Amino acid sequence: MSAHLLPPLREVIAKHGLSASKALGQNFLFDEQLLDRIAAIPGPLEGENVYEVGPGPGGLTRALLRAGATVTAVERDRRCLPALSELAEAFPGQLRIIEGDAMKIDPSAEIGAPFHIASNLPYNVGTALAVGWLGGERWPPAWKSLTLMFQREVAERIVAKPGTDAYGRLAILAQWRCDARIAMPVHRSAFTPPPKVMSAVVHLTPKAQPPNVRMATLEALTAAAFGQRRKMLRQSLKGVAHALAALDMVGIAADRRPETLDLTEWVSLASKLDTLC
Ligand code: SAM
Repeated sequence: MSAHLLPPLREVIAKHGLSASKALGQNFLFDEQLLDRIAAIPGPLEGENVYEVGPGPGGLTRALLRAGATVTAVERDRRCLPALSELAEAFPGQLRIIEGDAMKIDPSAEIGAPFHIASNLPYNVGTALAVGWLGGERWPPAWKSLTLMFQREVAERIVAKPGTDAYGRLAILAQWRCDARIAMPVHRSAFTPPPKVMSAVVHLTPKAQPPNVRMATLEALTAAAFGQRRKMLRQSLKGVAHALAALDMVGIAADRRPETLDLTEWVSLASKLDTLC
């Protein structure tokens, strides 16, 4: 089948009996214009490599392929594989499908060149996957950008600024090493079946030279502090060895609450702690 003869996505679903599985976080997108707009977020993709998690029936995959990308896609649901094989035939040499669990796959081991990551993520593993990509040892990472659909509330936590309710561990982990923005809100009615909540696509690009601290230190500090976000730092950081001394040494008042510290303050606290441990 050639690319311009591909059937509408609803027909693909019907033909292959792809009833949506809640356990696999399946909420499909069928609107090809919307999918083309999502595929445009990383910038021109002609000749670029893209890693996609959860192609499902292949809606976003088609849009990425139409944009000229070479796509490596990981899908856990075997039922989707015949539909994806048809897509691979329609775009010869452009699509490789890996059947498996994205939680166990390192995309840089699969794709031997820099790549973008684009995905309408399964909600149950989406945050864990993103934290894994953001938290890799290697920086700059093998990926050039992340274009990821999340529940809107998670998207807001990723781009949140200090002093807001959404600001916390996820904002700090994401913004420490990346520039992050909400690229597109997506109404729940765009999905089949529609989820209960609204969604948004977040776009993240790596900062060339982020401050040099250990991810594990930043994680330990923010987990302890935001785990008890109403408490003052002198209370919530008690359990993190040397954290109260580090607070004092960098001049951050111990009676502050975690959402009042900006990214620079978190990073200076973490790097001071690194020197004490
Ligand atoms: N990309 C399609 C779209 O936009 O219409 C489907 C998106 S749907 C929200 C999430 C997809 O991720 C489903 O196809 C689901 O089977 C797949 N999936 C769920 N868990 C997965 C995992 N651990 N590894 C790989 N794929 C997974």
